[in-house]
Amino acid sequence: MSEARAAQTATSRPTPPEVDRVAASRAAVAARRARAALKAQIASGERTPESVLDQGAREPDGPAGTLRVTDFLLSIPAIGVTKMNATLEKLQISPVKRVGGLGRHQRERLREFLRERAKLSSRSRGKSRLVVLAGPTAVGKGSVSAYIREHYPEVHFSVSATTRKPRPGEIDGVHYYFVDDAEFDRMIRDGELLEWAVVHNQSRYGTPRGPVQRALDEGRSVLLEIDLQGARQVRRAMPEATLVFLAPPSWDELVRRLIGRGTETSDEQQRRLETAKVELAAEHEFDKTVVNASVPEAAREVVELMALPSH
Ligand code: 5GP
Repeated sequence: MSEARAAQTATSRPTPPEVDRVAASRAAVAARRARAALKAQIASGERTPESVLDQGAREPDGPAGTLRVTDFLLSIPAIGVTKMNATLEKLQISPVKRVGGLGRHQRERLREFLRERAKLSSRSRGKSRLVVLAGPTAVGKGSVSAYIREHYPEVHFSVSATTRKPRPGEIDGVHYYFVDDAEFDRMIRDGELLEWAVVHNQSRYGTPRGPVQRALDEGRSVLLEIDLQGARQVRRAMPEATLVFLAPPSWDELVRRLIGRGTETSDEQQRRLETAKVELAAEHEFDKTVVNASVPEAAREVVELMALPSH
């Protein structure tokens, strides 16, 4: 190599063509924006820090992976600069690290720190990470949980398995896992259900254990919308759960809602009315009653009981 070429190689890299530079700076701006959005989601409680940590490990070059660990910690509510520095020192993580560049042990220590923090903060606020919403038939559990699903995305919803056939518009894996009797039998046999029950003397419904446990392990709060028999089983299996009884404003209103739904035959309505009477009498077994006079208000009261970062 001539001296002149060697000197050029050492001092100056070839300048990218103008278009490349424009594209590169546009990509950098987009990446910065994506990281800022992620931080805002952690700060608002829309995303748990644990899920961002996991995403960073899966996609080291994505917005979570390229997020500085200092920015990551600072976006968590109630962590300021002092706490952030002390935490990094304790966990032996260099402040120049990015989330996707953490070693396995560093990631584990950070996860453990986040888990402990979530546990302590929920305990100190007297809130629960597992809330069971039950109540009489047609009281509006479905509407309240749909409202929570739409407005509080940080709540993890358990999707139940059922042997009943889908209603029009219901999607397998979203509203329920629609399974046949043989599959439901298998799930019971293999211990896959946290609880299950025959509802309205007809179909079987059950809560898959795995997703609930995983969400709790990730530090998320979980809502189960199930019937009374199921709520009792959850109480036995997980005594830390908070049981919420959704009550109608009055018995007349409950009957009106039951008949008004119009999706069931009159035999079916009668059967549901009978179940509702028995269920109403069980209110005293619950930790808390929420009266469903207005869906948004009832939803807010339920969410208020949950340990969520921003509520
Ligand atoms: P539907 O057939 O109208 O969707 O639901 C009927 C009833 O089944 C509702 O009261 C609902 O709370 C209850 N249910 C839904 N999923 C479960 C579940 O996983 N376990 C139990 N025990 N009940 C459930």
